[in-house]
Amino acid sequence: MSVGELKVPFVERAHRALNDRFLQEALNTATTRFMTLRHEAFQAFPQGEALRERAREIKEATLQKLDFYLEQLADNVERLGGHVHWAATGDEARGIILRLAQERGVKLVVKSKSMATEEIELNEALEHAGITPVETDLGEYIIQLAREKPSHIIAPAIHKTKGQVAELFSRELKRPLAADPEVLTKVARGELREKFLQADMGITGANFAVADTGTVVLITNEGNGRLVTTLPRIHVALMGMEKVIPSMTDLMVFLSILPRSATGQKISSYVTLVRGPRRPGEMDGPEEFHLIVMDNGRSSQLAGTLREALYCLRCGACLNVCPVYRQIGGHAYGYTYSGPIGILLTAMLHGNHAVRDLAHASSLCGACQEACPVKIDIPRMLIELREHLDRERIAPLAERLIFKSFARVLTTPALYRVLGRLGRLLQRPFVKDGRLGALPVFLRGWTDHRDLPPVAERSFRERWRELER
Ligand code: SF4
Repeated sequence: MSVGELKVPFVERAHRALNDRFLQEALNTATTRFMTLRHEAFQAFPQGEALRERAREIKEATLQKLDFYLEQLADNVERLGGHVHWAATGDEARGIILRLAQERGVKLVVKSKSMATEEIELNEALEHAGITPVETDLGEYIIQLAREKPSHIIAPAIHKTKGQVAELFSRELKRPLAADPEVLTKVARGELREKFLQADMGITGANFAVADTGTVVLITNEGNGRLVTTLPRIHVALMGMEKVIPSMTDLMVFLSILPRSATGQKISSYVTLVRGPRRPGEMDGPEEFHLIVMDNGRSSQLAGTLREALYCLRCGACLNVCPVYRQIGGHAYGYTYSGPIGILLTAMLHGNHAVRDLAHASSLCGACQEACPVKIDIPRMLIELREHLDRERIAPLAERLIFKSFARVLTTPALYRVLGRLGRLLQRPFVKDGRLGALPVFLRGWTDHRDLPPVAERSFRERWRELER
């Protein structure tokens, strides 16, 4: 999805996704697999529940002393020979990276998967400055070749079938390739190896940053993170300020629940701990290490409605279980972060106007909270967000009037009774086989993709009175 497509209304983007046969196939296969793997992993891990609670406590305690931990982190990174930069906005973060690259004559950058760099549209900025970024995570490599945006936090190319990837590789790499994941991975690996050796700068995100040791932690499954952080002469890591955690003991808690939630693994294939640049006598590692700590709207939510969204580990579990995401995929959301947590992060990064429609892209079923390793109360925050949209008059007038009237009906028993009776009468032409289908005009959206139960012939109160008689 390109930025220009944001001009297409959300409903239209969602409809397009629903009618895309390939997308539906790819989404269903991948999210179902992730859900099953996660479920099995936690079933075989009785300590999981307690560790999820502990992880939540750590996140909350860290946010309460965020300034202290960030300073401690910065002191320790500098003690290890690294440089720390503070970016208040995404623009500032981009500017710092561009300046570092330009001052050092960087022409080629290799990157490992990082949602923070997606958030600030770093690749576009680098290309604009004449610097070539190369994504080295397989999923990111695929979408870079396709000139698209990620559609899932941990599986950026989840929307593509292997047949589509084979077509893309054949076209872009100019040789016919079979739709065989092993063949395609081998080809990508061959293409990328050279780039690691040629690149002057490696750019990564940070899954965690440990304050009391100055360690930046990267979790990957392909090993590309290690090559990005050790082969180029400069390593730049970009992190959202909420990624700091107090200690290595805390890290162990997160390492045990994050991979299980994301991919059902007991531990990710590679856990890379970066502690500053190469030191005398060391065989590998960069000559320079820079850590950029980015705010970009986060601190404004420390005391705001969306505070709990700052606990997020970016594992993607809430996307896989969300009945909305599973149908429309990530691109329909229109922003970097998709799924239920994506709506909250979009509001945090781009303001409430950006989520005028998205705030309703949730059934509030609670599956996201149940799947979340830190039990983030996403449904509660979505409801509060909707309240804000109403109070700030961002929600459309018709919607505000409808909900106001609805609230009035629900809190006035007499009105509720009258409208209940009226509803029973009006629904008659639309009830078939005990289900309400194909409502007319502006009510159509409710029954386009499903039937609804009709208003009951007798209300609970009427039945109760009968029973009493
Ligand atoms: S909200 Fe929870 S489940 Fe969703 S990505 Fe963040 S940590 Fe994972």
